[in-house]
Amino acid sequence: MEYGPAPESRKAVDEWLNAHQGRFQLFIGGKWLSPKDNQSFKSINPANEETLAEIAEAGKEDVDKAVAAAKKALPKWEGLGSHARARFLYALARQIQKHARLFAVLESLDNGKSIRETRDIDIPLVARHFYHHAGWAQLRDSILKEYTSIGVVGQIIPWNFPLLMLSWKIAPALAMGNTVVLKPAEFTSLTALLFAEICEQIGLPPGVVNVVTGGGKTGEFIVQHPGIQKIAFTGSTEVGQLIRRNTAGTGKKLSLELGGKSPFLVFDSADLDSAVEGVVDAIWFNQGQVCCAGSRLLVQESVAEQFLKKIRSRMEKLRIGNPLDKAIDIGAIVAPVQLKTIEELVQKGKEEGGAIWQPSWACPKEGCFYPPTLITNVTPSATISQVEIFGPVLIAMSFRTPAEAVKLANNTRYGLAASIWTENINLALNIAPKIKAGTVWINCTNVFDATSGFGGYRESGFGREGGKEGLWEYVKPNWEVELTELPTTSEPKLENNSPSSSSFTTPAIDRTAKMYIGGKQVRPDGAYSIRILDPKGKGIGEVGEGNRKDIRNAVEAAHAAASWAKATAHNRAQVLYYIAENFAVRAAEFSARIAQMTALEPAISQKEVDLAIQRIYTYAALADKYDGQMHQTPFRNVTLAMKEPLGVMGIICPQEMPLLGFISTVIPAISMGNRVVVVPSEPYPLAATDFYQILETSDLPGGVVNIITGKRDTLTQVLANHDDVDGLWYFGSKEGSKLVEFAAAENMKRTWVNYGKPREWFNPQQSEGELFLRHATQIKNIWVPYGE
Ligand code: NDP
Repeated sequence: MEYGPAPESRKAVDEWLNAHQGRFQLFIGGKWLSPKDNQSFKSINPANEETLAEIAEAGKEDVDKAVAAAKKALPKWEGLGSHARARFLYALARQIQKHARLFAVLESLDNGKSIRETRDIDIPLVARHFYHHAGWAQLRDSILKEYTSIGVVGQIIPWNFPLLMLSWKIAPALAMGNTVVLKPAEFTSLTALLFAEICEQIGLPPGVVNVVTGGGKTGEFIVQHPGIQKIAFTGSTEVGQLIRRNTAGTGKKLSLELGGKSPFLVFDSADLDSAVEGVVDAIWFNQGQVCCAGSRLLVQESVAEQFLKKIRSRMEKLRIGNPLDKAIDIGAIVAPVQLKTIEELVQKGKEEGGAIWQPSWACPKEGCFYPPTLITNVTPSATISQVEIFGPVLIAMSFRTPAEAVKLANNTRYGLAASIWTENINLALNIAPKIKAGTVWINCTNVFDATSGFGGYRESGFGREGGKEGLWEYVKPNWEVELTELPTTSEPKLENNSPSSSSFTTPAIDRTAKMYIGGKQVRPDGAYSIRILDPKGKGIGEVGEGNRKDIRNAVEAAHAAASWAKATAHNRAQVLYYIAENFAVRAAEFSARIAQMTALEPAISQKEVDLAIQRIYTYAALADKYDGQMHQTPFRNVTLAMKEPLGVMGIICPQEMPLLGFISTVIPAISMGNRVVVVPSEPYPLAATDFYQILETSDLPGGVVNIITGKRDTLTQVLANHDDVDGLWYFGSKEGSKLVEFAAAENMKRTWVNYGKPREWFNPQQSEGELFLRHATQIKNIWVPYGE
């Protein structure tokens, strides 16, 4: 039997568009303003190529105006307090719900996605996001009273979930007391403009939300604007990298939600029919234009043929066409340029030997439509296995063993999501921790909820959106406001490999400070040494001058020590306590060493040692207490928010506080299961090199802590460029901070830098506790079936 048409009415949208004569201005400071140079662009319905509206294009002056309006609104918005902000967010949620169908139809017309999805998924999730964050707004002044807002936030969103991405950005920003300048994607600005009208209607104070429409150039003006304190971006990895480089060293906080090539794993123990429906949701939802689309099907060899047969037969039954038809599964691709990219990538897949399969029915001839496509006979290194196609194209490969499945799943530069299908709970929960991705769905896929964070590992970006995890992106500790940039202090002089000088006195017994790599004391690869002088210029020792190869060896050793991440938290805590125990025995010796290097009063160097021992205790205590959370997500799930280590981290210690700076950074990182390559204070490295003797006697596995002495700037550059380093902390100069953030864009390693603003290492509020652990971990949300 044939389906009859079931069209959704577009009358209300047409009325709304007509009421505006099809023209839209910029929403700045609560007013609708024409752009300075009167430029505009068209918004097109991709299903039939009709022009829906003419939209203002914001230039530099317009972005300036929007930022000024957001800045002006900030004190009043912050001053309103938690409860008043909660009421505004609640009102936004209510209004979205009340106008849900108008939003849904408008989104379908503008983007080409099916009304079934905008009506039942996008818009309800948008309302849910505002409700959830109305709650966080209410709680802000009580549970986050040690934190303050960031300020003016620039937000740049893509076209694939226009209003949903707006809600993911605006709701947490407003809830935490920030004001916003938002740029929707050029293809899909209309629902953001309707949202701006709703902001007006509820009486949101002018300037709290500003919407500047425009293309990539407008986005660049936002990114580069000095009046903006944070950028939140969702879009392609390439633009994410550009933004990382553009903001490097500026002190702008950054969160990036980028692309993906997410694996969809089907084991022979899966309910295959359910998994077929899972595939439909994974790759044909939103025409496959989903950052976390399950675009790589990995199916166990024993059921591969059977499963692919079921998929083909299901594909025959999918319906493609007018997005406003309520019985349509697949709507239109957002724009001709995206359609062309999909066609070219499929062609490339064919040329590389892939077998292309499409259903027997034909796509509509008019408009941007592309049929659901399955590509088999693909190798893991083929272009289409690695590149985000961002269309309804599924590539399929098979695997034999769970270990092979994990290898294939992780064989990507991305790490956004994964989906695991098996009826065997042991297998599912064994595989989930092994997959490098921010979200893992077990026997489900593409489910979202405001209570659960969403975001990537690796080149899928960093930062989370949703839940408490997402709030950290929009607040900063109160004390951070007071930090100031110090003029470059005159650092103690260093001398290079000169064997002797008149001011050098050889210690009674030469204690050669070596590097420490893989649990072994090693000499520097370059066989150069650096003389360490006391403040009077007298030589007190020598350390190896580390180079690129030493760093390479240390990174390799750190990777080889991966089992540290699997050790139980209790076990890691025990090792830390043991370190503290052995350290305490030698406290006087370390105190003397600090005094020798820095000429500080003995009481102060003693205090540094005492605090260092205390700090190790703190992280030993927190190792098994800074644990995950369980989110109560809907759809018969619970979501386990697991805090995972970043992996291999580089740590550039502060120059000051030679021992406490080392302990305060290294210990929290390893307490969470990271392995570290540490560059100790350049002028005062000897406390760190003395410390490896303690590590050696405290049951710390070799490779967990690796110490490379030498020139800070040189070693920082090598670590920042290293593709196998997952995170880098830097406590040094402003220039060094910029270098780290800029170079990190290449593999999107997580960074934490201080922009040349030293913290007080003696002050536990600034230098100890959960803030350090948050920077040492990333959250993986694992959606597990639960309940009826
Ligand atoms: P982009 O990354 O170019 O666009 C995302 C947003 O950034 C848009 O608002 C865009 O504006 C804006 N933008 C573009 N260039 C800059 C810039 N230099 N500085 C600041 N902002 C900028 O994605 P595209 O829309 O071009 O899509 C290209 C590919 O990106 C897709 O094929 C897909 O692979 C991927 N993508 C991934 C998404 C995800 O969620 N992970 C979402 C969208 C795309 P405008 O659109 O107006 O040009």
